[in-house]
Amino acid sequence: MNAQCCRTLIDELAQGKLPERERLSAFIDACAPEAFSGPVPDDATTLEAAYLAEAGVHETVSSSDASSDALPEEEAEAVREALYSLARKRAVEHFGRRIYIRGLIEISNICRQNCRYCGIRAGNALAERYRLSPEQILACCEHGYGLGFRTFVFQGGEDPWFTDERLADLVRRVKSEWPDCAVTLSVGERSLASYRLLREAGADRFLLRHETADPAHYAKLHPVAQSWSNRMACLRNLKACGYQTGAGFMVGSPWQTSACLAEDLRFLHDFQPEMVGIGPFIPHAQTPFARFPAGSVERTLVMVAMVRLLLPAAMLPSTTALGTAAGDGRERGILAGANVLMPNLSPKEARALYRLYNNKLSEGAECADNLAELRERIRAVGYEIVVDRGDFRPC
Ligand code: SF4
Repeated sequence: MNAQCCRTLIDELAQGKLPERERLSAFIDACAPEAFSGPVPDDATTLEAAYLAEAGVHETVSSSDASSDALPEEEAEAVREALYSLARKRAVEHFGRRIYIRGLIEISNICRQNCRYCGIRAGNALAERYRLSPEQILACCEHGYGLGFRTFVFQGGEDPWFTDERLADLVRRVKSEWPDCAVTLSVGERSLASYRLLREAGADRFLLRHETADPAHYAKLHPVAQSWSNRMACLRNLKACGYQTGAGFMVGSPWQTSACLAEDLRFLHDFQPEMVGIGPFIPHAQTPFARFPAGSVERTLVMVAMVRLLLPAAMLPSTTALGTAAGDGRERGILAGANVLMPNLSPKEARALYRLYNNKLSEGAECADNLAELRERIRAVGYEIVVDRGDFRPC
C-alpha cells in the first residue's frame, strides 16, 4: 500500500468507517512492518504445526509478507505521525487532556490456566505463589483512596480460592466503604452465573482480553483445554450482565500476522467494548515462549491509534507492557490516543511476584505511591491526571 492509500485509510477510520480486512492488514504492513523486535526461533514453524495439530485446528487467516509491502522508513514515519496526530485529536475531543488513573491491585498470582505466554501459568513450577487476603486488599483500597484513586482494579490469575461468594463479599465491602469508587474485576473466565452475581454485588467493569480474534492463532497461544469460543462467550456474557467490558490483545505475540491484527480490529468494531488493553508481547523466561522476541513498540502504538479512531469513546490504557518495552512507552501511548494509566497499588512483596513477563515494571512511576512523578511526566507531554471514576461515556 502506498503512502497516499495509507492516508485515505486513516481518513476512513477517522470517519468511523471500517476498511476491509485486506486493506487494514496492508496498512499495518506498510507503516509498521516490524512485527517483532528480533528474530523468531529456528523451530518456530515446527512448534506452530505441533500446537495446531494438538488443537485439531486449521488456519483461518492467511499470513502476510510484510517486507514486500513496507513503505520506505521516512514515508512510514510520516504516515504513523499522521495517524497518531488524528488519534490524539479524537481523544482530546472526547476526554479533553484528562488522563484517568486506575489503582491496580494484583490479588493473586495463583492460576489454574496455562496460557503459553504467561509467567504465572499453572505449569510454571518455579513461580513463587501468593494470594492477598481480603483485609490486605481492603488496606490497598484505603491507601489508594487517600492517593486519589476512584477506581480499583482487582486483577489475578484464575485462583479457585476466590469463589463467587468470597469475591462478591469483597466487592460489597469495597462498594460500601467507598461508594464513590468503581470496581473493575480482571479475574478471567467464569460462568454466566458468576459474572451475574459479581455484577449484582456492585462490580462495575470487567477486563478480559480476547487475546486474538483468530481461532487458529488462539490455539497457538493456549493449550487445547482453553478454547477461543469460550473466551468469546465469556465476553458476550459480560456485556449481557451490564459490565463496562474490556477486551484487548498483545501485539507481536508468536505467529501473529498483520492479518490477525486486522481481524482484531474488525472484532473490536463489532463487539464495541468500553475498554481495550493493548500492549506488546514480552516473553517470560519460564514459559514455552521464552525464546520468542518481544513485539514491536511501534506496531503497538499503531494499533492503539487505530483503535482510538475506530472506538473514539473507549477507555484505552497506556499499558505497563508498553512502559516496560520502552522507557517513554507510557507517554508515547498517550500521544497515540490512550487516555488511561493503571499504577500499581499492590503491596511491594506482591508486586515483585506478579511477574507476567520478563522485567515487568512495578516500581518508579508505575507504583501508585509515586503518583507525583507520574503526574509530572504526563504533564510534560501536555496532559493532566485527574481524580475521577472515569466511566465510559458514549460519543
Ligand atoms: S494470562 Fe491469566 S489466565 Fe492465562 S495463565 Fe496468566 S494469569 Fe492465568
